[in-house]
Amino acid sequence: MTAALPPLTVPAAVVIGGGPAGLMAAEALAEAGIAVELFDAMPSVGRKFLLAGRGGLNLTHSEALPAFLSRYGERAPQAAQWLEALSPQALRDWAAALGIDTFVGTSGRVFPKDLKAAPLLRAWLHRLRERGVVFHMRHRWLGWDGSGALRFATVQGERPVSARAVVLALGGASWQRLGSDGAWVPWLRAQGVDVAPLRPANCGFEIAWSEHLRERFAGAPIKPVRLHFEGFDRQGEFVLSAYGIEGSLVYAASKALREATERDGRATLTLDLLPAFDAARVAREVAHPRGSRSLASHLKSRLNLAGAKMALLHELLPKEVLADPARLAAAIKALPLTLTAPRPIDEAISSAGGVRLEGLDEHLMLRQRRGVFCAGEMLDWEAPTGGYLLQASMASGRVAGQGAARWLGSGPGDARP
Ligand SMILES: Cc1cc2nc3c(=O)[nH]c(=O)nc-3n(C[C@H](O)[C@H](O)[C@H](O)COP(=O)(O)OP(=O)(O)OC[C@H]3O[C@@H](n4cnc5c(N)ncnc54)[C@H](O)[C@@H]3O)c2cc1C
Repeated sequence: MTAALPPLTVPAAVVIGGGPAGLMAAEALAEAGIAVELFDAMPSVGRKFLLAGRGGLNLTHSEALPAFLSRYGERAPQAAQWLEALSPQALRDWAAALGIDTFVGTSGRVFPKDLKAAPLLRAWLHRLRERGVVFHMRHRWLGWDGSGALRFATVQGERPVSARAVVLALGGASWQRLGSDGAWVPWLRAQGVDVAPLRPANCGFEIAWSEHLRERFAGAPIKPVRLHFEGFDRQGEFVLSAYGIEGSLVYAASKALREATERDGRATLTLDLLPAFDAARVAREVAHPRGSRSLASHLKSRLNLAGAKMALLHELLPKEVLADPARLAAAIKALPLTLTAPRPIDEAISSAGGVRLEGLDEHLMLRQRRGVFCAGEMLDWEAPTGGYLLQASMASGRVAGQGAARWLGSGPGDARP
């Protein structure tokens, strides 16, 4: 057993979690002239941010604000407040001030020009250090002790830390090896904080594929394709995987699909395998006499339908439907596909659930624990990929940081009782 370290009293504010939300909160506090110390369990900060860089770092989106806010579903009103503190344009300006210019891709998504996260993170950390932010790595927060001090596990033993304001920015529970493991959920619940269970968002789904499909087509893209499920109806692409399906179109539908699998134990979506052709055209081409040609070469020559799409038809349709041109044509335009469960949260791009927003005031301070603020993915909101995750994480980090500054009396209006 290592001995406990002496208590540390931070002059003003502590931020726990060095992801984009926590770093943004630290920046807002430092801008307000407050001494801030940031703690993270990992040896370095921003690991998930760096991982996002592998996909080009989709920082935000360029669409108009009403459409942007609609991506947050029932949390759009709260997201609107956060985006007042840091709008999509303000986020681009912020990156530019760090020497990182951004551009709008063909889909309207916004990326750094070099499509990298590391230069942006490096410049950001440099500026934070210049502004006096002190970093404590390998400090795993364990909740509060009986005296109200923050408990941190360090390599030299446990260390109690006291501060007048705390921002928690602990992330969700996906990709746990990068730091965010959701271990905080019971500690906050023990304080009376209402936390919705963390669940996978922007995730793949399970399907009991045949061995043939798993072995021959895992990794094959299905594109273009239209996915319809309840209110969701969009064209895009996804990938067949050994366990089921994944990819951007599936992620976009994942909230509705997850809720249905939780509710009903399964979810049946329909696929339009030929979105460019209307149903009449497909029916006409499928019914065209095929002579001695196989079904595969018939569909390939008449409709350019082949490969993984053809494999899906064989996998999912009974022989009598494959042999009936009218029923086959209808299935090509609306192929039912039943999913049994989302993949585990650790594999997901992001988490749904978290600290319910009703338990926070407009500055993101916990009603149950005054002086403690929460930000980022640990809050109960979700959004599709497209830059909406980083935008809301960073904007809420700014709100929480400004709220903590105000609580300490250095922001606009002293909030302390
Ligand atoms: C593969 C992948 C690609 C992505 N690409 C994009 C993208 O292009 N665009 C986009 O908008 N979003 C993307 N995201 C999502 C985005 O990265 C997250 O939404 C964002 O990082 C959340 O920020 P956060 O600060 O709330 O949490 P995190 O980034 O998860 O940071 C939380 C921090 O808290 C620390 N921590 C947790 N628990 C403790 C503890 N007990 N004690 C001390 N420290 C602790 C962790 O170590 C971590 O550093 C992607 C995610 C993944 C997995």
